[in-house]
Amino acid sequence: MIRQQTIAGWGNYKPQPCRVTRPHTLEALGRAVACADARTVIARGLGRSYGDAAINPPGHTVETTALNRMRAFDESTGVLCADAGVSLGEVVAHLLPRGWFLPTTPGTRFVTLGGAVAADVHGKNHHRDGSFGKAVKRVELLLADGRVVNASRTENAELFRATLGGMGLAGMITAVELQLRRTETAYCDVTYRRASGLARALELMEQTNADYRHSVAWIDCLARGAALGRCVLMLGNDAAVDDLPEHHRHRPLQPPRRRSKNVPFDFPPCVLGPTTVRAFNKLYYARHGDARKVVDFDTFFYPLDSIGHWNRIYGKRGFIQYQALLPPDQAHDGLVELLEAIGEAQLGSFLAVLKKSGESGEGLMSYMFPGYTLALDLPNTGAPLERLVDKLDHILLNRNGRLYLAKDATTRPDTLAAMYPNLDRLRQVKATYDPNHRFVSAQARRLGIVEDA
Ligand SMILES: Cc1cc2nc3c(=O)[nH]c(=O)nc-3n(C[C@H](O)[C@H](O)[C@H](O)COP(=O)(O)OP(=O)(O)OC[C@H]3O[C@@H](n4cnc5c(N)ncnc54)[C@H](O)[C@@H]3O)c2cc1C
Repeated sequence: MIRQQTIAGWGNYKPQPCRVTRPHTLEALGRAVACADARTVIARGLGRSYGDAAINPPGHTVETTALNRMRAFDESTGVLCADAGVSLGEVVAHLLPRGWFLPTTPGTRFVTLGGAVAADVHGKNHHRDGSFGKAVKRVELLLADGRVVNASRTENAELFRATLGGMGLAGMITAVELQLRRTETAYCDVTYRRASGLARALELMEQTNADYRHSVAWIDCLARGAALGRCVLMLGNDAAVDDLPEHHRHRPLQPPRRRSKNVPFDFPPCVLGPTTVRAFNKLYYARHGDARKVVDFDTFFYPLDSIGHWNRIYGKRGFIQYQALLPPDQAHDGLVELLEAIGEAQLGSFLAVLKKSGESGEGLMSYMFPGYTLALDLPNTGAPLERLVDKLDHILLNRNGRLYLAKDATTRPDTLAAMYPNLDRLRQVKATYDPNHRFVSAQARRLGIVEDA
């Protein structure tokens, strides 16, 4: 059944009317892709990409979440094969109690395996373990001509590389074979360190990198002057049973459930003014001194998941998330320029996230390369936001930086082309497997990745 629905990405930025289907079987998925009245289709997982990557206004948007069967799990090796519509949360719920966790995880568990592969997502352990695609052994793909094929490092290898980070443009992922990693507990041993400014934060990250699997800093992006870039670093390792407080040791893989709350409606714009945000960020920094704590995985990896619909705090006009990646030699000066531009624009943003990135992803369009990445939310204020993102894009381009397609909602074709050297290679692979451009998203159209027929 096809329904008409106005949808957007997680940022609720510029929603558009779409024709949406949600097939319950692989056969129905095949029919949705082949459907004669849909010249184009795009997959949509849980819609956690921020912009227009998972919508396709003139064609069909195909939700994958009803195809969520775990197909096989080998307890001795930790290799899972599951439908692409299975969420990371479902994987964790089933397999963490058995001592297996995700190889890496983004900051929300409400992401499908298909979405995680298509964006080649990264987590707080990128400097150590690389991005999601590194643990993917094989994908099963439904192609534009209706064939279902496997792609891996040894079979259809170029198609595999076009799928990792390829934002659904090479074909519809129907299953993912993934290597999970063993864990003794569902807790992290976390060390908190405060850094009074950006230079100190980068220095601390460099110094601690080798000792911690997980590393992330929450930056007060409105601090100015000598405090520019001040932040709280969270450095973590998986906790062993002996690290846990006595009362958690008998159930190390099943931490107590957290209660979740909902944001009941869209907030009015005045709630998120610079004054509120500045006060919140200041308080957050002041409350976190140097400390060490054992924290359950949910709290450490998914701090926002306990607040349902938190995106509503940005109101009806929505927001974007700007994520900038800079190479090491440009990181300090580039981050200073970005933070100064954001501070000058007075566009309120709650804490921004700074991470150190490791090796480049294998996908043709994988986002990560070695350096530092800064991500922050910016409310949609119309023209002032557009002026700011133009300025931020310009800074990034001058410093050999890169934007993340899973977050992008605003950039331009020439900016993207300058940032992704393998874009033409992706187009060539697409020409082989999808010559009539059946798989297209609003983002691919906006960025000229695909010249729509
Ligand atoms: C609170 C929050 C925190 C986040 N933190 C991080 C983070 O730390 N690191 C990070 O890397 N990302 C992060 N993200 C972004 C998120 O991980 C990615 O956008 C991810 O792709 C979303 O998955 P999804 O299932 O919601 O996919 P969607 O948003 O629905 O789709 C994203 C892309 O994947 C494609 N796609 C989805 N399913 C398939 C399929 N079966 N076959 C082919 N293509 C498919 C879509 O066409 C689209 O191009 C975060 C997002 C939120 C909301």
